[in-house]
Amino acid sequence: IVVVDQVSKTFRSAHGRGEHRALDNVSLSIEPGQVLVVIGPSGSGKSTLLRTLNALESFDTGRIIIDGVSLSDKKTDLNRLRAEIGMVFQHFNLFQHKTALDNVVLPQMVVRKRSRAEAVARSRELLAKVGIADRASHYPSQLSGGQQQRVAIARALAMDPKIMLFDEATSALDPEMVGGILDLMRKLAAEGMTMAVVTHEMGFAREVADRIVFMDEGRIVEEGEPGPFFESPSHERTRAFLDQIL
Ligand code: ATP
Ligand code: MG
Repeated sequence: IVVVDQVSKTFRSAHGRGEHRALDNVSLSIEPGQVLVVIGPSGSGKSTLLRTLNALESFDTGRIIIDGVSLSDKKTDLNRLRAEIGMVFQHFNLFQHKTALDNVVLPQMVVRKRSRAEAVARSRELLAKVGIADRASHYPSQLSGGQQQRVAIARALAMDPKIMLFDEATSALDPEMVGGILDLMRKLAAEGMTMAVVTHEMGFAREVADRIVFMDEGRIVEEGEPGPFFESPSHERTRAFLDQIL
């Protein structure tokens, strides 16, 4: 469902001096129902990769195909494509002045053109699914970080996305909230959701990923199935990274 073919992206500073290769010849693919976990040190290009998949970030060379549609094709309607991709961020990015329910309802009305009644019904279903049915009328400031992240996940799911992207969805949470969100992501994976997940949670990666990609300095250094990847990484750089965080 996702093909990334030799994609490179360079950020240039405003003055035209200094450039930074955030993605360097990155190729990967994600099959329907697969979970791809992306790991790597800070600044290695993980967020840039996810943002590129969602067309929030452009790229210089290469090809990205999502569900048969090329991102670089001028004819591609990027807003329409984005509607098929759910994204969950480290900071939940909820509308602060809207209730949990409305945070899930409004995008459905705007993007999917659903009636309010239809959107409300779907939202209640999803808030129940993510375990916060009883918090529907609370505002984000009245919710814990974990609860806010559940709202953000429900909001993304409400678009009936073909793929879900998670960028460090648990990194901003208090430790006791992390497990619940990982459980929810595990549940989505088990239901067959196609997912690309940036995380530092190696237990989750090992258990849930179909493939792991290790990035460093904008490049994919190594990729593989979790078993071999964690037990016998073939690159020194991967080993050093795993030693550091495990
Ligand atoms: P972290 O684990 O800290 O989130 P990351 O792997 O997600 O790191 P990215 O955010 O993708 O890393 O950044 C990759 C590189 O691109 C970094 O060196 C970063 O400074 C640079 N970069 C990212 N966004 C921009 C931008 N908008 N303008 C300029 N440089 C950027
Ligand atoms: Mg990042």
